[in-house]
Amino acid sequence: TATDQILSLNSIEVLYDSVLLAIKGVSIEVPRGGMVALLGSNGAGKSTTLKAISGLLKAERGKVSRGEICFDGKLIGNILPQDRVAMGICHVIEGRRVFEHMTPDENLEAAAPMSMSRQKVNSEKARIYEYFPRLAERKASQSGYLSGGEQQMLAIGRALMTQPRLLMLDEPSLGLAPFLVAEIFGIIQRINKEDGLSVLLVEQNALAALEIVSHGYLIENGRVVMHDSAEALKANSDIQEFYLGGG
Ligand code: ATP
Repeated sequence: TATDQILSLNSIEVLYDSVLLAIKGVSIEVPRGGMVALLGSNGAGKSTTLKAISGLLKAERGKVSRGEICFDGKLIGNILPQDRVAMGICHVIEGRRVFEHMTPDENLEAAAPMSMSRQKVNSEKARIYEYFPRLAERKASQSGYLSGGEQQMLAIGRALMTQPRLLMLDEPSLGLAPFLVAEIFGIIQRINKEDGLSVLLVEQNALAALEIVSHGYLIENGRVVMHDSAEALKANSDIQEFYLGGG
């Protein structure tokens, strides 16, 4: 039933500049407390799908021209991006943006909602440092000097400060060494298990993504061309050839 899904997209279309149809009828679902991946090559429409959900399309002259986006039982198509954040939708955009001239600790503070009590800010920061011990070690350095992996950890930490119920990550593995990808994905999996946080993961690194999600959607050319369990996707010969490094 609808209430088993924290997120459902029903045949959405996205237009950029009123002409370019980037998404052509995409339907996806994220179960409450589940982890789902959107896979596909460059330009397939993965980032656009996340922007439709978070509402960030508008800043890029894009709009959802058809279909419905339902979060936690409510249609959110007409809700402002900042109000979607308040509802619990958090989108970590590609490229791990952090405030480079601030320390990791200041970055986490700045990400906390205004309404959050001092006590809660401190306990949330402590929880994030426990997940990411590397961040705790570097919490007083300038964030701009952190490694790519540490900046990605900080970007995820900032997202967690907003108290999300759905965490959307766009290419968290981009440019990171395999051991760091494994470390970060392990932590995402742990947060999902311990807090029941629902996760929608956009990845070109299908191999890593399929290790932690239960289901995946393969997007090509603005359409979902395959949808299956992670196990079935890993075993699929087309996926192996094109996305698991075999071709
Ligand atoms: P990548 O990982 O490279 O971002 P993607 O699967 O996330 O790939 P999108 O970025 O969603 O793909 O792009 C989907 C299509 O929409 C592409 O054809 C792209 O050129 C186009 N597109 C993306 N952003 C814009 C924009 N701001 N204005 C116009 N067209 C855009």
